Amino acid sequence: MAPKEDCCHSVVDALSDHLEGRVGFWDRLRLKFHLFRCPICMRYFRQFKKVYQSCDQMNCEDLPEDFDRIMSKVLGQWKGNKG
Ligand SMILES: [Zn+2]
Repeated sequence: MAPKEDCCHSVVDALSDHLEGRVGFWDRLRLKFHLFRCPICMRYFRQFKKVYQSCDQMNCEDLPEDFDRIMSKVLGQWKGNKG
């Protein structure tokens, strides 16, 4: 049961929209369904959410640089895990 590249990519793309509440009901459902079945995306989602929330708490003003660095690291791990 290998994760489908396209599907995972669309999930990753939709995550920020999802956390900002900009995703419709059915897209949200599809996203959650994918996360439920795909441990790679689920782990990515958890890390993403953590970064997103800490960014939220800190007003995000002096974070963009760190945020990018953390996210690229997370993304690198995510890509690395896809084998
Ligand atoms: Zn996935």
